[in-house]
Amino acid sequence: MTEHLGNLVGLSRAELEAALVEFGEKPFRAKQIWHWIYHRGARDFEEMTTLAKGLRTRLAERFTIARPEIAREQRSNDGTRKWLLRFDGGHEAETVFIPEEDRGALCVSSQVGCTLTCRFCHTGRQLLVRNLTAAEIVGQVMIARDSYGEWPAPKEGRMISNVVMMGMGEPLMNYDAVAKALRIVMDAEGIAISKRRITLSTSGVVPMIRRVGDELGVKLAISLHAANDRLRDEIMPINKKYPLADLMAACRDYPGADNARRITFEYVMLKDVNDSPADARELARLVRGIPAKFNLIPFNPWPGATFECSSAPVIKRFSEILNAAGYSAPIRVPRGRDILAACGQLRSATQRERLSLYKARRAAGMTDGDHAAHA
Ligand code: SAH
Ligand code: SF4
Repeated sequence: MTEHLGNLVGLSRAELEAALVEFGEKPFRAKQIWHWIYHRGARDFEEMTTLAKGLRTRLAERFTIARPEIAREQRSNDGTRKWLLRFDGGHEAETVFIPEEDRGALCVSSQVGCTLTCRFCHTGRQLLVRNLTAAEIVGQVMIARDSYGEWPAPKEGRMISNVVMMGMGEPLMNYDAVAKALRIVMDAEGIAISKRRITLSTSGVVPMIRRVGDELGVKLAISLHAANDRLRDEIMPINKKYPLADLMAACRDYPGADNARRITFEYVMLKDVNDSPADARELARLVRGIPAKFNLIPFNPWPGATFECSSAPVIKRFSEILNAAGYSAPIRVPRGRDILAACGQLRSATQRERLSLYKARRAAGMTDGDHAAHA
């Protein structure tokens, strides 16, 4: 094997071209190879039959087309698929595919874990956190495509039709890699998922929101979950840094948001915490003037969570109040709960195992201090 074996996945077009020129090839090779990787889904250079045999061999000595390793694939009773992926360094994250009849949304992770510790979120409890690279983010989409055999993807009727940046991690805490990956995913000569079919969800990293609209133009979702700063400070610590007034101002200014492309406000229904009719009315007042719709998410429990999900009639009433104020507010049907694939349940298996080990030790009076804050 030659030195400097480099993964071509995750390079921008310009970087791919530079890598090939440095390797001694003409720039147009980049276009060919891009097509093989992202349109045809080639997994090694031997498949690239438009290249001469000698070139394929030399490329293979120098470069790879590497996807993340699939540590486990699970299927829910409702068809939801979840991949536990293992990245370099043994770090893990999950990707979830939520199929509908003839299409579906792929829920992609941006980080291993998350630094933001929202109280109701399983991911935020994870100790180990690192940013994923652009290659690791695009790799999640490629693995899903592999699994459905969608190479090249049909123009109509694709199963992997939409991408939501709603997996593990806060995408705007890893903006550069996320932006680079999404540009690759949107590229019309490759995976070609249009910006209208991509949604980025953020807990409210206010200074980055405008760039998402200006530079990527994807749809925006905000994890709101509370209608006032007092409660939001308590359940989402990021609110202390970027309070609601700033967050709402960023939404008002979001480029490209209009009545046809509304901002989605996600709202997790927490029993006796944020689910009263007064909360619903306050929420409607809060977003007034923003092209908005809501998505009510029944709280998904996870081992050790201290919250409970609001009852069905309470959620229904909440939704009706928002409707009466002029907002669409569907209740998200939880998918993949049986394999812990639903919103907020993602967390790598090793971390789960570590937590149960910690609990067993704690029960036996054997803990060390540094895990205690997160358990
Ligand atoms: N960090 C980003 C992207 C993650 S999206 C963000 O927070 O927006 C995952 C969505 O699921 C977010 O709206 C999150 O608030 C929500 N969520 C987290 N924990 C949940 C839980 N236990 N039940 C239901 N939804 C949850
Ligand atoms: Fe991080 Fe989002 Fe979970 Fe909050 S809800 S801890 S921002 S992944």
